[in-house]
Amino acid sequence: MDNVQVRESLSLIEKDRKYVWHHISPYKEEAPPMIVEKGEGSWITDYKGNRYLDAMSGLWCVNVGYGREELAEVAAEQIKKLAYTPMTNSHKSAIELAEKINAMLDDEYVIFYSNSGSDANEVAFKIARQYHQQNGEPNRYKIISRYRAYHGSSMGALSATGQSLRKYKYEPLSAGFIHVSPPDHYRKPDNISVEQYNLLKAREIEETIKFEQKETIAAVIMEPLITGGGVIIPHEVYVQEVERICNRHGVLLIIDEVICGFGRTGKAFGHQHFNIKPDIITMAKGLTSAYLPLSITAIRKEIYEAFKGTEENYHFRHVNTFGGNPAACAVALKNLEIMERENLFKRSEELGKKLLNGLEELKNHPNVGDVRGLGLLAGIEIVEGKETKKPVSNEKIAKLIAAAKAKGLIIGRNGDTVAGHNNILTLSPPLSSTDDDIQFIIKVLKEVFFCE
Ligand code: PLP
Repeated sequence: MDNVQVRESLSLIEKDRKYVWHHISPYKEEAPPMIVEKGEGSWITDYKGNRYLDAMSGLWCVNVGYGREELAEVAAEQIKKLAYTPMTNSHKSAIELAEKINAMLDDEYVIFYSNSGSDANEVAFKIARQYHQQNGEPNRYKIISRYRAYHGSSMGALSATGQSLRKYKYEPLSAGFIHVSPPDHYRKPDNISVEQYNLLKAREIEETIKFEQKETIAAVIMEPLITGGGVIIPHEVYVQEVERICNRHGVLLIIDEVICGFGRTGKAFGHQHFNIKPDIITMAKGLTSAYLPLSITAIRKEIYEAFKGTEENYHFRHVNTFGGNPAACAVALKNLEIMERENLFKRSEELGKKLLNGLEELKNHPNVGDVRGLGLLAGIEIVEGKETKKPVSNEKIAKLIAAAKAKGLIIGRNGDTVAGHNNILTLSPPLSSTDDDIQFIIKVLKEVFFCE
């Protein structure tokens, strides 16, 4: 980089500090945010020319990796042909994408388009409430979710989120959101099996439904596995029992696939590991690999039928300007075509196993309590000691992340968001990662733990 470029990049940092309000983290003079210039495959390059392997795929979203020219081309073509039409109308890409998503699911669903994961969850909550109203049970309005899970930043989605620090200073939030504890079997009591523990946790949901009076419960929302909240992977008995409980009590099951969808866990959708049929499924991120914003709320056909009545107010009175944007739908279709062509769901499963095998050695470190994952999604739980399982401090986690970054590896964490449990490093590399990329992640993490 010549001197002029250096000056330009410095002035960009100055301008960034002056004009840009960054998401989530406080601005730190000593460690300003990275100004990213380009991406290729699993790697990103900052303005100073430093390269990093992005083992978080941005925010768990760039599933097909960076620099896919065919996605840029398809977006340009679509914009030239038809830049916009509201989804009060329809267009070819939206119709084809809805058909495609249906082919990937195990039941028949109707597709509602929005812009973000939060939007998709808001739509799910509104549909669940209205459905019960129109189905003769107008008192069902409460939504149950799990502590430690994240469902978005808008008021309803944040209300469903079970991370207290994310809500702090914004409360009171929406009424009617209730939380139960998640199946974190790394921390289960010693005297019961993983299966028994998971069943107990599922039954906590049933107890809550009863305590709250089942006639008031509209839906349970959960991710197939808790991702951003610390990669908490349930035993399949948990998920299947939750589905049975929902069915038993007339409660809709909303599955948040915003992160788990589109191959992240080694299958098209995370819930497909558990052989369940959700009533509503929300999707975003990997849907377009984040090349353009788009999200989906997929609603089971029978629920949609309740909105077709002849009553004047039976329709779903919800609109958003950008949802179903033609270029975003076209990019999603091409993105799914790439995933199919390159067999990326299978690749996620295979690379995920290699990643976990490679990270197994970290368990020999006294502060590594657990290493877990499914597909290309992994969590490393850092504790003071293996016996006490006491989570390490924020500072310690921040140091590990900085040490990895200094070696060219971007990793994540479960956020400064859950009092006492902010101790889990996270990995979610692009599904298109090469074997060398995965080996690089393993090598750097071993160095961070064993050579620092
Ligand atoms: N649901 C889950 C599981 C998420 O991880 C996220 C975002 O990280 C959301 C919902 C919200 O998505 P968005 O940031 O697109 O609103």
